[in-house]
Amino acid sequence: MTLSGIGYDSHRLAAGRRLVIGGVEIPHELGLDGHSDSDVLAHAVIDALLGAAGLGDIGEHFPDTDERWRDADSIELLEAVVAMVGGRGLKVVNVDCTVIMEAPKLAPHRRAIRERLAEAVGLEIDRVNVKATTGERMGFIGRGEGVAALAVAGLADAR
Ligand code: MG
Repeated sequence: MTLSGIGYDSHRLAAGRRLVIGGVEIPHELGLDGHSDSDVLAHAVIDALLGAAGLGDIGEHFPDTDERWRDADSIELLEAVVAMVGGRGLKVVNVDCTVIMEAPKLAPHRRAIRERLAEAVGLEIDRVNVKATTGERMGFIGRGEGVAALAVAGLADAR
């Protein structure tokens, strides 16, 4: 049996914040605003895993009203979710995701992001795909106001 889940997240770009995408800090004059490190890609992957396992969503498990998660390293949250999934007798079999961002270019960081995510979910790098596109200068992404990410995850019985 295999299970699939989807995830989506977006965060506003702001001055004085770090731009962390998939656990990799990318040099840029703006970063992602929010309660945790606001790693938009890690959050989308978390929701995809929770969705596949039938475990709700990121806001239920790590509410942004909880001081425990202030400036949280979202890769650690992702690792906690992988453990939760494992507790349900399931293992992650693949992750595919898309980052939608006008600037900077993601391509130079794609390999590092894949490695970081693969390590966090316990997969070989070829089972973790990372794609990037822009908003074609349309909407909040195209105007550089924010970044969005989509993810799909597959789970199978751990046995
Ligand atoms: Mg988020």
